[in-house]
Amino acid sequence: MTLRLERVSHAYDGRPVLRDVSAELAEHRIGVIGANGSGKSTLARTLNGLVLPDSGRVLLDGLDTRRHARRIRRRVGFVFSDASAQIVMPTVAEDVAVGLRRSGLRRAEIDARVDAVLHRHGLSEHRDHPAHLLSGGQRQMLALASVLVTEPEVLVCDEPTTLLDLRNTAVIERTLRELPQQVVLLTHHLDTLSGFDRVLVMDEGRVVFDGAPEAAVTHYTALMSTGSESPAPRGGRP
Ligand code: ADP
Repeated sequence: MTLRLERVSHAYDGRPVLRDVSAELAEHRIGVIGANGSGKSTLARTLNGLVLPDSGRVLLDGLDTRRHARRIRRRVGFVFSDASAQIVMPTVAEDVAVGLRRSGLRRAEIDARVDAVLHRHGLSEHRDHPAHLLSGGQRQMLALASVLVTEPEVLVCDEPTTLLDLRNTAVIERTLRELPQQVVLLTHHLDTLSGFDRVLVMDEGRVVFDGAPEAAVTHYTALMSTGSESPAPRGGRP
């Protein structure tokens, strides 16, 4: 699966947030880091058509998000940092099943898929519990399970561990590392990115570094210590 950003720019109320971003994302595990407000979330949202660029285009295997938003959203799952906002049904099992409602699958098949995904993510014993009674970590796992049950080919995760403690962060991160799907992960936990295939560093709406995780973290750390002034890119893709 290849996500391709071609000269993507986007502004909110005339304020530029993405400035001429081009990238081809085909690796298995891709990280995106950058200061708050650097445009990571907006970039992530362009990948499944939640945000349409003002100019430029985003293509998923050649399909333009502007024209094929529904098809693309089925193939690119999105997990938000605030899992509670993503939970829509009264029980855990119903919440996972909701994404399959319009799939045309029979009830028995839906139940089997829901049970399998709950089992895989350690939520089986909470199957019939109200989702709002889950712990923060379990809620984030539920949000992940509700997206994964639809079998997307790419999973875009926008800071999924921001609201979690260290233990739950570790559980979610391990889950993301072990997924067969392509993963695009926005995070402030730089340790998570070791072993990733590629990391993009964003600053003021631009990708200012694109390369191996260790070099990206070095670049980002230098960037943070120099304020908004970007150090010269080293060793990464332009
Ligand atoms: P990041 O994920 O790196 O924190 P965002 O893409 O969320 O960056 O935000 C970039 C800038 O755009 C921020 O200044 C933010 O306040 C602004 N912004 C984000 N979403 C909206 C929106 N829906 N409407 C107006 N401004 C927004």
